[in-house]
Amino acid sequence: MSDARTRADCRYCGSTRLAAFLSLGQHPPSNSFLRVEQVASERRYPLDVYVCQDCWLTQLLDVVPPELIFDDYVYLASSSKALKTHYATLAAHATERFALRAGDVVADIGCNDGILLHGYALPGLVRVGVEPSKVAQHAVASGLDVVNAFFSPEAAQQIVGRFGAAKVVTATNVFAHVDDIGRFTDGLPPLLAPEGVCIVEAPYLIDLIDQTLFDTIYHEHLCYLSLTPMAPFLARHGLDVFDVVRVPFGASGPAIRVFMQRRGGPWPVEPSVAGMLKDEAAWGVSRLERYQDYARQVEAVKTKTLELLHALRRSGKRVGGYGAPAKGNTLLNYLGATRELIECIAETNPLKQRTLTPGSHIPVVSEEEFLERMPECALLLSWNYLDFFLKQSEYIRRGGRFLVPLPAPRMVP
Ligand SMILES: [Zn+2]
Repeated sequence: MSDARTRADCRYCGSTRLAAFLSLGQHPPSNSFLRVEQVASERRYPLDVYVCQDCWLTQLLDVVPPELIFDDYVYLASSSKALKTHYATLAAHATERFALRAGDVVADIGCNDGILLHGYALPGLVRVGVEPSKVAQHAVASGLDVVNAFFSPEAAQQIVGRFGAAKVVTATNVFAHVDDIGRFTDGLPPLLAPEGVCIVEAPYLIDLIDQTLFDTIYHEHLCYLSLTPMAPFLARHGLDVFDVVRVPFGASGPAIRVFMQRRGGPWPVEPSVAGMLKDEAAWGVSRLERYQDYARQVEAVKTKTLELLHALRRSGKRVGGYGAPAKGNTLLNYLGATRELIECIAETNPLKQRTLTPGSHIPVVSEEEFLERMPECALLLSWNYLDFFLKQSEYIRRGGRFLVPLPAPRMVP
């Protein structure tokens, strides 16, 4: 098994002036739910967050080998109705704004099960996906052309050779996942038609910090993006940013959507680009203290959450967990939670049921089993769906309560 490696330089600019500002401890890959017999061989890696003091890219330097993360990847994006709608809206926007017509090539990098490509309503588009994990089979089975590889200049060449250059390339929730992002980005200009556009969507650093969303920090997410480091990085790789928008809902919470074209492309540069750079400067994106303050915020959430959990246990209450998303494992492992504190976790995805959570080794059970056990309180790991669960969940209807950890720890109802 290959080991993790630790970078010494910034992914975007190569600088070695990297400041560690947040250490979340030692964590296994957050999607590696385990069977009992796998516990002994579980590996942990540091989850420390750095910021480059030259270009101000926030990033992890410890890189877990991608095959450890992606070989057993079980996440099917299309299982989320909300995500389907989100990507269909993006596809409709691209279709109209960039005047797509039948016969045009659209490509999606990190296409998962084809969720975004199936979001294009226009008939006759040539839809091509790139997906390194086994999930690619689902995209192929749904009728898409898929390159089953990590994206690279070679993969770009293969697509252009077989289908032609792309009018629209999307890369949602993948741009921040790639260690050698320079090589990845070098594949984009040759993939694009002269008037082609690439749209990157990724969680936005400013929201991550302002809302203390530290649970989205895990080994898959190598970078936490803002426009300040991105714009010059892209320019060095032959791409100019011409528009940027904040989207309140992305695959991993609030995101930015960055529109780019080949250098000298036809699309006018919108005022949003200078506007966002100005806002980020005013926010403090290039001040180290801004990041150090964040670390104190995160620490305070931990202290408060543990206080609430221990108070519940001291008063004789049993505590469970609700939802087992990957990000929940960052929270559980950062809290140092074990099954003595949290007896089991309810999860609807059958692939995760009857496994143990990575690192904390808490049993994942079905909703039905959770209701039979009926702990008095549940740490809500899928806290972003709080409103939905308050209205819909049988657990709450039967008198259960949630401990909602983020953005500020509290009991509901
Ligand atoms: Zn840098």
